[in-house]
Amino acid sequence: ANGVGYWSTIERRSVGGRMPLGLKRKGLRVVVTGGAGFVGSHLVDRLIARGDSVIVVDNFFTGRKDNVIHHLGNPNFELIRHDVVEPLLLEVDQIYHLACPASPVHYKFNPTNVVGTLNMLGLAKRVGARFLLTSTSEVYGDPLQHPQSETYWGNVNPIGVRSCYDEGKRTAETLTMDYYRGAQVEVRIARIFNTYGPRMCIDDGRVVSNFVAQALRKEPLTVYGDGKQTRSFQYVSDLVEGLMKLMEGEHVGPFNLGNPGEFTMLELAKVVQDTIDSNAKIEFRPNTADDPHKRKPDITRAKELLGWEPKVSLREGLPLMVTDFRKRIFGDQMTTAS
Ligand code: NAD
Ligand code: UDP
Ligand code: UDP
Repeated sequence: ANGVGYWSTIERRSVGGRMPLGLKRKGLRVVVTGGAGFVGSHLVDRLIARGDSVIVVDNFFTGRKDNVIHHLGNPNFELIRHDVVEPLLLEVDQIYHLACPASPVHYKFNPTNVVGTLNMLGLAKRVGARFLLTSTSEVYGDPLQHPQSETYWGNVNPIGVRSCYDEGKRTAETLTMDYYRGAQVEVRIARIFNTYGPRMCIDDGRVVSNFVAQALRKEPLTVYGDGKQTRSFQYVSDLVEGLMKLMEGEHVGPFNLGNPGEFTMLELAKVVQDTIDSNAKIEFRPNTADDPHKRKPDITRAKELLGWEPKVSLREGLPLMVTDFRKRIFGDQMTTAS
């Protein structure tokens, strides 16, 4: 709640492209597509706390009502069950477009990235709203440049098992830039690197959620391949801060939003063992096709132009996620045990 005072007195040049210089900020009407999901629900918490009116548009494909249940009944909050593949009419100032089946087990065979993004851009164009796309580090594919900066065009297999997601997001970026150039929509593009934290889907097959759930359930940690592939893990509050700075700032992007702390999957398993259970075993499994070997963001651009950088290290952030997972896996009565 102390965020409200801070945000409501911020002065800015424009909000959603409309507010003149120096005016005090009023609550905005903000749509968050995918707002019942992991990242979206944390973003909604921050927007509500600073006094905005928030409309969540979600079809609950991977999101859960539980993630936003604490806002139901708040007059500044609305929840609409809707698939963004279908057109949608709303009057709003800003659109955070997160709706997307985002994990390997969910993202196949789904036109959300292309058709859903087109619809939300059409909406932004009609009402003059500012539009933010949550793209992904996957647009860099299996990168030949390391770390990856925004100027790198990527190395993506267009016909592989991951390409629905990679190419879907690349197309979403293309559509976003076309609406910016062709229809003068105010757009922002974030390229999000692997993010973890409370409310993450427990069984969607991501490595952090898998390892944490496995360690808590006393199952072996499943390391795919030789475990020497790397990822850079960002805590969700750092991401939300970056998304809001991007939306409020003057730069289109794309901007990498990620934590440059890079870990092999074996190193990640060690952090999980240290945090949850030092006796957790490791079991090797065959890796999936087209798995990127290395990934680490170059965040120079976001540091310079947005004044943003992540603050929470993996060893600090992981315990916060473990508390949430423990509650969801075992129920509240177990949270004080072990
Ligand atoms: P998530 O699965 O928790 O959230 C996605 C939300 O979108 C869910 O609530 C889901 O129900 C909703 N959704 C999916 N298809 C929809 C549709 N057709 N219509 C309406 N709603 C729909 O995933 P997340 O991790 O919170 O991801 C949010 C965004 O961030 C996604 O666009 C994702 O691609 C991007 N991203 C996330 C990460 C990460 O590590 N979490 C990394 C890169 C990019
Ligand atoms: N659209 C929407 N809500 C709106 C305006 C547009 O969902 O408020 C959808 C519309 O149905 C279309 C897409 O956005 O499928 C692109 O709209 P645009 O007006 O840019 O394209 P057009 O309809 O002219 O092809
Ligand atoms: N991975 C793993 N064990 C698991 C799940 C994933 O070793 O139980 C590996 C996976 O092969 C990949 C990395 O962890 O190399 C990150 O996978 P995730 O699906 O979390 O993210 P992405 O591949 O989209 O970056």
